[in-house]
Amino acid sequence: MLRIPPKLYEKIKYFATFPQTGVSLRQMVKFGQKPSPGTLFRASQFVADELPIRLAHRVVELENLPNHLSEMPSVIKVKHWYAQSFKDLVEFPRPELSAELRERLRASMVAGQGMQLPEAQPNPATSYYAHSSVAAVTGSNRNGNAASATRTRAYYARMDNVDLPRDILKYNDDFVRCIGAIKRRHDPVVTTMAQGIQEYKEAIGHQLIDTDVQLFLDRFYLSRIGIRMLIGQHIALHQPPPDKDYVGIIGTRTNIRLIAQEAIENARFICEDYYGLFNAPEVQLHCPDDLEFMYVPSHLHHMLFELLKNSLRAVVETVGSDSDDNFPLIKVIVAEGKEDITIKVSDEGGGIPRSGMPMVWTYMYTTAETPELDADYNKSDFKAPMAGFGYGLPLSRLYARYFGGDLKLISMENYGTDAYLHLRRLSDSEEPLP
Ligand code: ADP
Ligand code: MG
Repeated sequence: MLRIPPKLYEKIKYFATFPQTGVSLRQMVKFGQKPSPGTLFRASQFVADELPIRLAHRVVELENLPNHLSEMPSVIKVKHWYAQSFKDLVEFPRPELSAELRERLRASMVAGQGMQLPEAQPNPATSYYAHSSVAAVTGSNRNGNAASATRTRAYYARMDNVDLPRDILKYNDDFVRCIGAIKRRHDPVVTTMAQGIQEYKEAIGHQLIDTDVQLFLDRFYLSRIGIRMLIGQHIALHQPPPDKDYVGIIGTRTNIRLIAQEAIENARFICEDYYGLFNAPEVQLHCPDDLEFMYVPSHLHHMLFELLKNSLRAVVETVGSDSDDNFPLIKVIVAEGKEDITIKVSDEGGGIPRSGMPMVWTYMYTTAETPELDADYNKSDFKAPMAGFGYGLPLSRLYARYFGGDLKLISMENYGTDAYLHLRRLSDSEEPLP
């Protein structure tokens, strides 16, 4: 495939010299609590400054991977998506702000909430945008449906409004569409990168990936979680929240019991789908009804879902049911501490031999048959099947670590496995930026 055009790559390398700027969960919530066109504009400026820096770091890393990994066709494909998204962002025209308007925006934000997003610092944009006059924001190819546009407008109208010029309102809309398209472009990154690692394994002729590749994938996917969090949050702030306990995609009062129940149902559903009716072990949940904390519900669901699928599979495949057709129960126990909320998923599925423990954290390590990738895998986000890609545990641990938590596994060989999912209650942990 083609190389990244040298001029574009020069620019990417320049942006990659700037440090990435993290945002904590609490900062995102404070910032998004009372969105107004002014704060949304400010947020889009932060995203417009920060995203190209994060993408640039990834492109440079993808270009310089060890052991010829950079030369694998699927890795090159992924790199081009990152480069293209970088290009889309740095070429996206910004409205010019008059001094008077800048002051009004500042004032509206101070009034709106006492908190600002950090500046993406130092802002490399200035040197690149200084000479491009971008008074008019162009490129309105509206493909969002009209109903949602009307809803969004109604939502805007209710916001405490600073009188902003039309081009800024339009910029807000257009920018959301731009990053929405970027997010969709990157949907298949996990599966495509997995494909790249497969190509790499074939090239090196053995199955286990080396430590530096494992570390690279951890950095790469962790960074992807952060990028998608920024984009997802910014897009969601432009829409009416599903209920009052949401700020963007963050649940300010995420009810653990409800999410756990949903994950249990979904995992058991997949399990029965895979092993046949009545072949899903029961799951017992111990969790206070009213336990709530600030988190991203979709992340919590993802981690629990993956852990539960593993436990269900271990119980069904390794232990099976006894003569009374009863599987040993899987238990989910939730403990509420001051610092952490810890969720233990405990099964009697036979455990993992101690020598196999380091392996379970490596990408693409699986003891299940790898299912055929959906012909459409290139279009959709990674939807994990019952098992077989060996991504469940390592990715779940990254989700946990992204907000300052962790995931640990303790096994008793020939008995069962306990997975401990630690989630930080203090939502101000620094975003890790690999
Ligand atoms: P996958 O489920 O696709 O195989 P995971 O990363 O979720 O990938 O798990 C990797 C491997 O770890 C599994 O294939 C299995 O061998 C082992 N494993 C994970 N959880 C358990 C468990 N609860 N009991 C026994 N083995 C487990
Ligand atoms: Mg799994």
